[in-house]
Amino acid sequence: MNTAPKRPDAPLAAHTPMMRQYLELKAQHPDALLLFRMGDFYELFYEDAATAARVLDLTLTTRGQSAGEPIPMAGIPYHALENYLVRLVRAGYVVAIAEQFGDPKGKGPMTRAVTRIVTAGTLTEAGLLDERRDAPVVALAPGKGRNRSRWGVAVLTLSSGRFAAFESSEATLESHLERLQPAELLFPDDCTLPVTPATAVRPLPPWRFHVTRAFATLTEHFGVADLAAFGFSLAETPLAITAAGVALAYVAETQKTALLHITTLARETTEQYVALDPTTRRNLELTETLRGEASPTLLSTLDFTQTAMGCRWLRHALHHPLRDRNEILRRQALIAFWRNNTQLRQKANESLRRIADLERIATRIALGSVRPKELAAVRDAAEPVAHLVALLPAAEADPIFARTLEALPLPNELVAKLNAALVADPPLLARDGGIFAPGYDAELDELRALRADSGAFLLALEAQERERTGIPNLKVEYNQVHGYYIEVSKSHLDKVPPSYRRRQTLKNAERFITPELKAFEERALAAEEQALARERTLYASLIDWLKPFVPALQKAAAALAELDALLSLAHAAETFDWHPPTFVDTPTLSFESLRHPVVERQVDRFIPNDLELDSETRRLLLITGPNMGGKSTYMRAVALATLLAHIGSFVPAKAATIGPIDAIYTRIGASDDLASGRSTFMVEMSEAAYILRHAGPNSLVLMDEVGRGTSTFDGMALAHAIAWHLHEKNRSLTLFSTHYFELTELSEALSACANVHVAAAEYGERIVFLHEVREGPASQSYGLHVAALAGVPREALTTARRVLAAMERQRHHGPPGQLSLFDTSDATAHETSHAPTRQPTLEWPEWLLPLAEKDPKTLPLAEVVDLLERLHELLSLTQQPHF
Ligand code: ADP
Repeated sequence: MNTAPKRPDAPLAAHTPMMRQYLELKAQHPDALLLFRMGDFYELFYEDAATAARVLDLTLTTRGQSAGEPIPMAGIPYHALENYLVRLVRAGYVVAIAEQFGDPKGKGPMTRAVTRIVTAGTLTEAGLLDERRDAPVVALAPGKGRNRSRWGVAVLTLSSGRFAAFESSEATLESHLERLQPAELLFPDDCTLPVTPATAVRPLPPWRFHVTRAFATLTEHFGVADLAAFGFSLAETPLAITAAGVALAYVAETQKTALLHITTLARETTEQYVALDPTTRRNLELTETLRGEASPTLLSTLDFTQTAMGCRWLRHALHHPLRDRNEILRRQALIAFWRNNTQLRQKANESLRRIADLERIATRIALGSVRPKELAAVRDAAEPVAHLVALLPAAEADPIFARTLEALPLPNELVAKLNAALVADPPLLARDGGIFAPGYDAELDELRALRADSGAFLLALEAQERERTGIPNLKVEYNQVHGYYIEVSKSHLDKVPPSYRRRQTLKNAERFITPELKAFEERALAAEEQALARERTLYASLIDWLKPFVPALQKAAAALAELDALLSLAHAAETFDWHPPTFVDTPTLSFESLRHPVVERQVDRFIPNDLELDSETRRLLLITGPNMGGKSTYMRAVALATLLAHIGSFVPAKAATIGPIDAIYTRIGASDDLASGRSTFMVEMSEAAYILRHAGPNSLVLMDEVGRGTSTFDGMALAHAIAWHLHEKNRSLTLFSTHYFELTELSEALSACANVHVAAAEYGERIVFLHEVREGPASQSYGLHVAALAGVPREALTTARRVLAAMERQRHHGPPGQLSLFDTSDATAHETSHAPTRQPTLEWPEWLLPLAEKDPKTLPLAEVVDLLERLHELLSLTQQPHF
């Protein structure tokens, strides 16, 4: 049953004047929760009140009657607005805020107008935004007719002013959304989205997605006749223009102010970035673990940034690996510089630590919502920024610093103004006054002098009254509630002159006012009020004065964010012993002593491995070996290092050579997509299909155990076919791990296919994972060993051994059906219950092999101890399974 109170259908005229005002505003914002300012509260009425009461746990009350019905109401105290807004916006609501204007003592209702609409993608307040990530609005414009399966995509980050657009095929749309991580997604409500976004979705009326309208919005905003200068045209990119226009108009409506800080529309192209499909982003746990946690991820491992701007830069970079070699090499050179200058880096970090979030403050200046404390933070950033500039080598000496030096330091004029204007520690909110420094404004100084003089006046008055009345402990004081008063203790009440009028009675004293004090009070309060009003005017004009500096501040903020992030990568390179990759023009991928940057931090001793892939002779690598042997860690390490190389970072390897990579595709691990009703196998095959359709000769493809989710023969056939297709058709650089031994034979049939395996040492019934990747196929399956390690009961294992033996015999000797696979008669048991079916291989760890060539007696003691320690570790890792 829906018990939500409805707005009465009565005609407007039947309502009270104030409710009329409310209903008119509500009619303009039917989809938003309307917060209606009344004195110290924001009130919600009718259905909005019921919704807010439920979401925010407020008491639902009623307020009088309008049109003959009681009005359901819920209220939020004005000073707690931010707390409540966060909760409403997180719950997916759009909130319209109506403020009141005019004199509260005047006649009739005050004027009210919606001054802001708050949505998940258009927040700019420090208190409402996660400082470590952007929350962009993304608009999608679907194509029609011959453009049917194309989409215009625009991304607008209000808090930074970044604005970009491009067109995408339907197939890659999801991948773009994963990359952009929108906080809010706009699209026409008459279209079906081909993706299921995890975001606040905002369907809008289709008429808003008209290309002419969008074009006009954009050209008007940028003050240009067409969009050619930005790389867009109606003929070539109508969908991108439409999406961009919709995004800009939507955001502008929510802010009710010009978006001065959005100064350009960037055109993104697919060739700009190394493509990562949605599963790859998730599987590689770049910025979020598969469970949705922030750590341990690639970002959490290498984030040593000092500012929130730097952290956002890193997060963005990890989702946008570049293909532009010049930019990659520029970043690499900067990282190398900071990597080699540890002390300088520490000094730079000390300065960065003192710099506030200039990017977001610049936006709030542009929107006019900046707070005095934030302006002081800009002022206080000037000095550390100047320190940083002094640390950097001159651009003439090293051109890689040119771009940073061009953007820094903060403009002198701006800093001088803020220095002159603000007191040392201004208040958080402008309405409290106390913002401006003495000497900044003569009128304000004068009003404040009146207030300051009051101290002297009160002392004089106190002395005068003590003298006149003969009351020695008479006090003249002030408090917020009662204003000025003269306090006389009970014992002296008989001396109080008749001109004193009682103001308040306390336990031991009485408080009085005199005509003289009353006159003073009026003057003082008027001066106070005037001073506050003056500060408000001054503050508004200070913000206006600052607005032209927004682009310069944005530029400085961007340079600082990059600097911070590159320092962080340099720190990671030094701390974790990472090295710069070399880039070449042939499709190659080679790593020496590669490690997984995240897993490495979680195990005691990580075993590094090499990789050699090249398009001509070795493009498909089949990886076999026991479960838990390290196959998927190896593959992920390859993908992560390749990705790191493309953000300009050093990589977790001793050396790396990387050819031109255009995309990274992965099919790792089974993830049921139950939300969309797809089984594990269906997900697996859809992912494989996507890869087979998209991967090219310059793509890196990681396939982990495809064909698992179906019957053995189906699975094997599919795995075989997929490997063959990748080798022959896609010709991609591929790592293909499989538990089907049969696949290892592919290397004989395919020219550029090789086998490697993760080594495991087996001794008797024990197994140790060496995590070493070696040439050649694995010698056997270790499924039963692993099952034993996992604690599968002894009887079940014995049965499994019998079945395995039977299957093996069938495969090698007889026609099918000769022996039942599930025959568990004693005869078979006798044969197989004691020994493994195949001869166990003993694979020694690589670090032990040199011992064969050495005389143990000649080894230095330290080396002997180290060897013993490693052996001890190995043996203690070896667990005794209960066969
Ligand atoms: P597989 O894919 O072969 O089943 P995983 O790659 O998931 O195996 O590895 C299993 C575990 O082994 C990992 O969680 C990790 O703790 C450890 N491991 C993997 N590779 C290494 C390595 N090179 N050095 C040390 N430990 C490793």
